[in-house]
Amino acid sequence: MAILTAEKLSKQYDGSVPTWALKDATFQVEKGEFLGIMGPSGSGKTTLLNLLAGIDQPTSGTVCVEGVNLINLSDDRLALFRRRSLGFVFQDFNLLNALTIRENIVIPVALDRVPVAKIEERLDTVSHQLGIESILDKRPFEVSGGEQQRSAIARAIIHRPAMVFADEPTGNLDSKSAHDVMRAFSDLNQSGETGIVMVTHDPFAASFCRRILLIRDGRVHSQLHRAESDSRGSFFQEIIGSLRLHGGGLSDVIPTLSR
Ligand code: ADP
Repeated sequence: MAILTAEKLSKQYDGSVPTWALKDATFQVEKGEFLGIMGPSGSGKTTLLNLLAGIDQPTSGTVCVEGVNLINLSDDRLALFRRRSLGFVFQDFNLLNALTIRENIVIPVALDRVPVAKIEERLDTVSHQLGIESILDKRPFEVSGGEQQRSAIARAIIHRPAMVFADEPTGNLDSKSAHDVMRAFSDLNQSGETGIVMVTHDPFAASFCRRILLIRDGRVHSQLHRAESDSRGSFFQEIIGSLRLHGGGLSDVIPTLSR
C-alpha cells in the first residue's frame, strides 16, 4: 500500500533565467519502504525532498502522504501535519547542545502535550531500538557523531511518523558510525511501517535501501531495485556500476568507495 504518492511533481525557480529544478516526478513509496534518491550535484534531489516533505511548494503536481494532499493544506494545517506525521533527519544532526540527549528526543512529543507516562514509554522503546540508552543524560557535544545521529533518528521517530525524510544522514560521519546509523535505519524500517526517503551521495548508505531513484537534470532517470535475495554487497556494486554508467556524481563519492 502506498504511503506517499508524488504525481507529476515539478518545480521551477524564478530568476533571470527561470530553471526547472524538477520535472514530472511520479512515483510512490510503499508502507515500510526504504527509498534512496541519488544523482549528481544540482540534479534536483534537495528540491524533490523539500517538496515531498511539504517544506516547499511545487509549481505543479501533487504530493499525498497517507491520503492527505499536502498541496491543499493551509500553512497551519501543514505545520501540524508535518509535526505529527513526518520525521526529519539532517546531515548535521540539528541537536540542541544546551539540552541533554533525552530532552532533545522528547521535544516533539512534549510540544504535542503527550502525557508524561506515554513519553517515558516511547523514549524507552526508541532508545532501546537505537542502542542509545546509556547516553540519554549526556549532552550532544559529549557523544560521538554516530551517537548524535542515532539520537536524531530517535527524535525523528518518537512520535511514530508515517514518513521519515533524511538528507545526507551519513555526510558527516566516519565509516564505522555511518554503518551503525544505516543499520539503525534499516532495522527501523524492517520492524515498523514507517516509510523512509533518504537523499544521499554515498553508495554505501544507499546500499541499505530497497529501491533507489536516480535523478538527472531534474528528472527521474532510472530506478534500481534490491531483490530479497540480493546481498547488500552486490547491491552496492550495482549502485557503483549504475553511477559510473549514467554519471551519478561518482566523483563526489570516491572517498567512500573503500568502505
Ligand atoms: P541537488 O540537491 O541535487 O544538488 P538542488 O535540488 O539543490 O539539487 O538544485 C536543482 C537545481 O535547482 C540546480 O540547478 C540549482 O541551482 C537550482 N536551485 C535550487 N534551489 C534554488 C533556489 N532557491 N533558487 C533558484 N534556483 C535553485
